[in-house]
Amino acid sequence: MSLKGKIAIITGSNSGIGLGVARELARAGADVVLNSFTDRDEDHALAAALGKEFSVNARYIKADMSKGAECRALVEQAGRCDILVNNAGIQHVAAVDEFPPEKWDAILAINLSSAFHTTAAALPMMRKAGWGRVVNVASAHGLTASPFKSAYVAAKHGVVGLTKTVALETAEEPITCNAICPGYVLTPLVEAQIPDQMKVHDMDRETVIREVMLTRQPSKEFATVEQIGGTAVFLCSDAAAQITGTTISVDGGWTAL
Ligand code: NAD
Repeated sequence: MSLKGKIAIITGSNSGIGLGVARELARAGADVVLNSFTDRDEDHALAAALGKEFSVNARYIKADMSKGAECRALVEQAGRCDILVNNAGIQHVAAVDEFPPEKWDAILAINLSSAFHTTAAALPMMRKAGWGRVVNVASAHGLTASPFKSAYVAAKHGVVGLTKTVALETAEEPITCNAICPGYVLTPLVEAQIPDQMKVHDMDRETVIREVMLTRQPSKEFATVEQIGGTAVFLCSDAAAQITGTTISVDGGWTAL
């Protein structure tokens, strides 16, 4: 599978799943644009190292996905967008009646509205190029709910709805739009929680992962960022040209429960 000659923009990609997806797209030959809201030397160095490792063009563009104008500016600044991966996301956990309104607004803006703005900016470019792939990183929480995650669950269900609508609007064109719904993925952020959880529950690493962190993931294994990236590469392949408007769960059986 070669994505040589394609340009991919991955939002929220200086760590975690976004970086993993960028790496797999670059491994498949795509030029990549990394993004986050910071503008540090290390962000640009990360893109340079990735480009060197996979012999592709890679650059970093700063844009805050909580701001609609910056979402659109990211795509405009990239100049071309064949593959758009809407990945940026944040989380906050609290009961509905205690949920800070500013957190609700931020989660809806970064996890949902950003995908509307980037997609709106990217579709004309995809139409001009005669090919396009929109891959939205939703979540198992785009299909099911958990208590105390109202904004996240609402935003991710919204991403699934946006995915279906964009797919229908582009159905007769060589453009697809799909959502990947990961379960618990082992990112640096999740890895960092393990020692604390071991202490709190007085359990060893394996037990805390099995019994506490992955209670809803029947496989009892984390998904990996490489597996999410590999799924994104598949959705960009010719084999997936008729897959549009759907969700692909990478969740160890979570949503089969
Ligand atoms: P992460 O915190 O490692 O990555 C989030 C990325 O988004 C980072 O690169 C961060 O810099 C960026 N970001 C945050 N706010 C931003 C903003 N305002 N503007 C631009 N970029 C911003 O987390 P992750 O686990 O890699 O999550 C990535 C996506 O995957 C999210 O949409 C998340 O909801 C989803 N997801 C994660 C898991 C999991 O278990 N880790 C499971 C399901 C879905």
